[in-house]
Amino acid sequence: MSLTITANPSLQSYNSFGVAARAAHFAEARDEAEVREALALAARNGWALRPIGGGSNLLLTGDQDALVLRMALMGKRVLSDDGETVVVEAEAGEPWHPFVLWTLEQGLGGLENLSLIPGTVGAAPMQNIGAYGVEIKDVFAGLTALERQSGELRDFSLADCAFGYRDSLFKRQAGRWLILRVRFRLSRHAELRLDYGPLRQQLAAQGCEAPTARDVSRAVCAIRSEKLPDPAVLGNAGSFFKNPLVPADHAARLRVQYPGLVAYPAGEGRVKLAAGWLIEQAGWKGYRDGDAGVHDKQALVLVNHGRATGAELLALARRIQADIAARFGVELEIEPNVW
Ligand code: FAD
Ligand code: NAP
Repeated sequence: MSLTITANPSLQSYNSFGVAARAAHFAEARDEAEVREALALAARNGWALRPIGGGSNLLLTGDQDALVLRMALMGKRVLSDDGETVVVEAEAGEPWHPFVLWTLEQGLGGLENLSLIPGTVGAAPMQNIGAYGVEIKDVFAGLTALERQSGELRDFSLADCAFGYRDSLFKRQAGRWLILRVRFRLSRHAELRLDYGPLRQQLAAQGCEAPTARDVSRAVCAIRSEKLPDPAVLGNAGSFFKNPLVPADHAARLRVQYPGLVAYPAGEGRVKLAAGWLIEQAGWKGYRDGDAGVHDKQALVLVNHGRATGAELLALARRIQADIAARFGVELEIEPNVW
């Protein structure tokens, strides 16, 4: 196979915000050889190289003077099975949600809470994707990545990845590693994680008294479909801000003023505040300035009503950050990658 390079294509359909921007060069790599070909070509021509998966955690604030490389390596397989624990591996370009469904069809639990997250397997470790009390680090068994500078292949263990809350070594060393394939340790009798109230309520509404992993996946899909905008209909990149961690005494002071404050203990004397609650409380839910807006069902999600530019969405985000800092003394950190 050989790489096809397109000059100056639109990236609008390659980012879930649906923002109009162009790439100087674009290619899709379907296997490791094509990834290496892209690296060699970029080096030869002095082009920057920017990998993307599904573009669902990206905000494009302008045209990209780079070779944008869509990681489109496909394939998934069972690596080992001792009758109870099963290690599976998927190539970077596999779409995440169909991969989760495939694991559930094999009778394997562990990824059910992460159902319906857009994007690809290869991007999942970037921010240690998480939802409903589970992060990929909880079932992570390793990954293989290519170091761009040296061309060296390296296997990463859980400890090597330094996963944190929506964070990893790969996010901190942006541009250094191209993730080729990821492995997960799943179980035939996985312990279900049902800590989140809406998940328990949805399972009860489905009449599930003894839920299976597949029931949990269905429940997560139902809640998400109801609450989150479908990027195919309304451009967005999911949560635009991370939930802030603040000292417990700061949260206690806020609770005096705001008795409804949504907060969860986060260890080490810190408390996690629900950023969506703060933004809603400040009156931004459903706000719209031109085509840049705040979702009317979940204030943590910024949306593109049609022709918003990345710069307009970023400007709205900055206004929200400033307002939340002024009202609550809390700094909100942007979650998506801003290019
Ligand atoms: P992209 O947006 O294409 O890329 C993201 C970053 O990863 C970029 O920096 C890119 O350069 C890099 N990258 C991509 N592929 C590779 C690779 N193979 N090797 C090296 N670098 C790479 N996130 C959550 O954590 N939890 C959620 O519940 C969640 N819900 C969402 C709901 C909606 C409606 C939307 C739109 C987004 C949501 N997200 C969520 C964010 C997003 O889906 C995830 O972060 C997802 O993993 C991004 O995958 P992607 O393939 O689209 O990555
Ligand atoms: P939610 O259920 O309304 O809860 C609001 C916030 O409170 C969440 O952000 C969550 O933090 C926290 N929370 C709720 N119950 C908790 C518990 N029992 N223990 C600890 N923290 C708790 O949230 P939502 O917006 O509908 O999202 C549901 C889940 O999907 C969340 O886990 C969220 O992170 C995830 N999600 C992520 C994205 C994204 O783009 N990153 C987009 C949509 C949904 P956490 O966020 O830390 O879980």
